Amino acid sequence: VAASSDIRTNVGIVGAGPAGLLIANLLQQRGIDCIVVDKFTREQIHARARAGFIEWRNKLLLERAGLAERMLSEGSAHRRCEFRTVEGSFVLDYASLAGGRMHWVYPQQELVSDLTDSFLSGGGDIRFGLACLDVLDHAAPVALCEDATTGEQQRLECDVLAGCDGFHGAVRASFPDGALAGAAMDHPFQWLTILAAAPPSSEHVIYAVHPRGYAAHMMRTPTVSRYYLQCGFDDSVDDWPPERVWSELRTCLAFDRHPLVEGPLLERSMLSLRSVVFEPMQYRNTLLAGDAAHIITPCGGKGMNLALQDAVAFVELVERRLGGDEAALDEYTPRRLPDIWRAQEFSHWFLHMLNIYESSDESGFLQGLAAARLRSLEHHPEAAAHFATGYVGPE
Ligand SMILES: Cc1cc2nc3c(=O)[nH]c(=O)nc-3n(C[C@H](O)[C@H](O)[C@H](O)COP(=O)(O)OP(=O)(O)OC[C@H]3O[C@@H](n4cnc5c(N)ncnc54)[C@H](O)[C@@H]3O)c2cc1C
Repeated sequence: VAASSDIRTNVGIVGAGPAGLLIANLLQQRGIDCIVVDKFTREQIHARARAGFIEWRNKLLLERAGLAERMLSEGSAHRRCEFRTVEGSFVLDYASLAGGRMHWVYPQQELVSDLTDSFLSGGGDIRFGLACLDVLDHAAPVALCEDATTGEQQRLECDVLAGCDGFHGAVRASFPDGALAGAAMDHPFQWLTILAAAPPSSEHVIYAVHPRGYAAHMMRTPTVSRYYLQCGFDDSVDDWPPERVWSELRTCLAFDRHPLVEGPLLERSMLSLRSVVFEPMQYRNTLLAGDAAHIITPCGGKGMNLALQDAVAFVELVERRLGGDEAALDEYTPRRLPDIWRAQEFSHWFLHMLNIYESSDESGFLQGLAAARLRSLEHHPEAAAHFATGYVGPE
């Protein structure tokens, strides 16, 4: 007998990030009953600044779904990127090389906020502060959840469960041993990710390859910019006080030739770089979407974009499954994996071009390859066009 606090719905969604919330909105538009749970409060989720580069296909997808109103009015198109080395710099108009497709720049937390508003204003149900602890059954999924404030436990019972709870979430961890396998690679350095209360130093992204390491600049809003700095594997944020951050950025990114617009640092965090793909992305009627199923280095800005595409495939297949097509969910993994591996391949290639593999015996060789790739991008239109389509994503 269900306890009075138990929740029953067609589709249970664990995680109110981009994957979970896009699933929720698309299901709502199709009249399919769903409930979202997230372990954090809405304010905590909104405070998490991460991605900012939305691929063209996802900009169109959000527009078509009627979820892009604020994104279109407050975000901006981005079509060029710059590469800097000690020898010089060049700007690539990648949109013109990719058939006019470009990026849309809009902070992830604002998109998450828009998706939350739209789902709630359509009568949607999001339980903030409710953490999934475990999934007790995957055939007729039952997620065991706990209220972060009261400690009260609730069971979320559903026909299909979406594990959209990020890389460290509880849903994938609940799969039995051997149900899925992870193909993983760790990279031998970290990135210091920085958010500065400073207007962008340029109207485009800048990627810099310096003998001391990689550095990058990205716009987020007219008053906030993101920077990245390659750091040692054992570095901690405390090793990087603001004055050291700006000094290193001036050296590695500005090359003392291009001034940076500096400002107070809003956020500094150390990011270890890991690439993982779990396969299959499903166990019985529980499916994984977004970072819960795969993580990718931020190089190339693919993680959130993959999460949004997972959501689209999930919704199409769940609609068929609830309509009686018993085998529909089995199409999920084969449908998504080629796109996920294409993005992993691009991100891995890009990471190797931009970062200095200092600790490796082969570092000199790798740097030679990276320099050759950069020269190809600058001087060979076919190489530049290949980069452009990988960077901006498929149609
Ligand atoms: C610094 C940085 C920059 C990035 N830049 C880009 C970029 O430019 N472009 C891009 O495409 N990607 C980028 N990414 C990647 C992108 O942010 C992620 O891929 C994206 O957030 C994945 O979305 P998601 O919905 O799968 O997971 P998340 O956004 O991680 O959401 C998961 C949600 O699940 C909740 N949750 C976790 N555990 C539980 C639980 N047990 N119970 C209930 N809820 C739970 C969490 O609170 C969270 O709200 C970047 C990442 C970082 C760190």
